[in-house]
Amino acid sequence: MAIRILNTELVNQIAAGEVVERPASVIKELIENALDAGARQIDIEVEKGGVALCRVRDDGSGIPKNELPLALARHATSKISSLDDLEHVVSLGFRGEALPSIASVSRLTLTSRTADADPGWHVRVIDGEISQPAPASHPPGTTVEMRDLFFNVPARRKFVRSDTTEFQHIARHVERLSLSRFDVAFSLTHNQRRVVSLAAAMNRGARQQRVAAICGSEFLQHALFVEHAAAGIRLHGWIALPTFARAQPDLQFWYVNGRPVRDRQLVNAARVGYRDVLFHGRHPAYVLFLELDPARVDVNAHPTKQELRFRDGRSVHEFVLRTLARVLSETRPGAQAIGPAAKESLWVRAVSERASAMESQGASPQVGMALGEPSLRFDLSAVRSGNGAGPAAGGGEFPLGFALGQLHGVYILSQSADGLILVDMHAAHERVTYERLKRLAAGQESAPQVLLVPVTLDVSMSEADYAEQHRAEFERLGFEIDRLSPTQLLIRQVPALLARTDIGALVHDVLADLRERDASLRLEDRGMELLATLACRTAVRAHRTLTITEMNALLREMERTERADQCNHGRPTWMRLSMADLDRLFLRGR
Ligand code: ADP
Ligand code: MG
Repeated sequence: MAIRILNTELVNQIAAGEVVERPASVIKELIENALDAGARQIDIEVEKGGVALCRVRDDGSGIPKNELPLALARHATSKISSLDDLEHVVSLGFRGEALPSIASVSRLTLTSRTADADPGWHVRVIDGEISQPAPASHPPGTTVEMRDLFFNVPARRKFVRSDTTEFQHIARHVERLSLSRFDVAFSLTHNQRRVVSLAAAMNRGARQQRVAAICGSEFLQHALFVEHAAAGIRLHGWIALPTFARAQPDLQFWYVNGRPVRDRQLVNAARVGYRDVLFHGRHPAYVLFLELDPARVDVNAHPTKQELRFRDGRSVHEFVLRTLARVLSETRPGAQAIGPAAKESLWVRAVSERASAMESQGASPQVGMALGEPSLRFDLSAVRSGNGAGPAAGGGEFPLGFALGQLHGVYILSQSADGLILVDMHAAHERVTYERLKRLAAGQESAPQVLLVPVTLDVSMSEADYAEQHRAEFERLGFEIDRLSPTQLLIRQVPALLARTDIGALVHDVLADLRERDASLRLEDRGMELLATLACRTAVRAHRTLTITEMNALLREMERTERADQCNHGRPTWMRLSMADLDRLFLRGR
């Protein structure tokens, strides 16, 4: 076959292969255009999962009559005119290919009116031909109506899933975009049913309401507000407490200069920021906005513009991970939560989940039901709002209060200024020890060593190898371990922090644990893993009896320790049941 230039329609259809994957892609492009046109209200109507109809109406600037055909022409855009513009682009669109691509695989009508024109005008695309503008009544703004997606591309139609699935994709895009512009109102209708309706959110409270509408109120209740700027980068948004981690990475929203993006570097930076407080395999939840000079980002990395390249990726990565790690390090008893999160809500959540599970099984929340189900006896909404006082409320100098005793060798019970505190003693001690070991390893704390009678330890060959290979790390912590023979180690010194434990068994356990896991770890994680394993193995086991003095020492240590609200695996270390919560449980004062 001879080489030839493809005709425009075919070129557009090929471009559509990248830009228009499914109905949701159409909705995304049309909403982006409306936002670029300065819309304050965007109404989206969808039929049959978007395949039959996608209609997006906005009250933006509109398109003048003579430009209407151009809007549908390939490589025609009003958003950039030079390479320099591209490097500083702030609009969501700039490639000038969305409308022609969509039009090439559907039946498209574009109706628009500018503020000073009367009436509006519309154009259609039929078989690749753009019609002459014809008058149409329309309020100022634009409506794009797309029908019968892929009617002329049967191969593509096969990939379209059920109406429900396609609509879910559309809803996800609308949600994602609606979080990028709190000042714009959105509505979404499917088969004439209103599914989403979001008013413009002009203050923090209203913005949080929108976040709650999209991410769930549970997310917001357990979120911290982040706001940090340095070196020309600003990061702000909401991040969930580690104890609200999820099994899937489904609540992770990243925006760069207002553009929703899926960027592996950013996702990774956030993951590393949470590394120390999250259980392996769990995923953090967040809505985060990054702002920086547009010249530092290349948004032209992919036709759908959801991927980007940072010109100085490393510094952005550092900035994000450090900011998140610092905010998360404040999760300790008595520390003022930055946002709306209330520490107590952990307790309330546990209780309310049980209550709602009961309710859904038909048990009605009545007064005086069986003992042992106290959660059914109080009004949960009241508990929630009652906790609005903030995490430090009644905390005073010792937010964790003073120990009363131990419960079944597992929990410490403590009386605080405003109620009862329950502490998982192993989890708490593990975190406290881990943080101290980290300070030791970082040289921020000296490691007074204990000279004991050297301990000889019989180990396997590979365990001995491991100890030898990681000698330097052990030494930094204050250990001195020599290899006596292929299967024998001699422990000469240990850090004072660990002196009370059975050293031989501790070192042996740590070596066994680490050798098993080591192969799967990346180099940078190995040091951390050593510390975490040491901490876990050193922490008091359940069923060890503690004296009241020991319990109080642990409580005080928790109050001083960063990240003490969760153990190394991201589980909570303590919970509070305030007097007000207790009064509600017992219906006092009603
Ligand atoms: P791009 O957004 O990359 O410029 P599009 O094909 O999406 O390319 O749109 C082409 C042009 O049509 C835009 O540059 C803009 O001038 C105009 N346009 C599209 N949609 C709208 C809208 N809703 N309101 C005003 N102008 C629009
Ligand atoms: Mg566009």
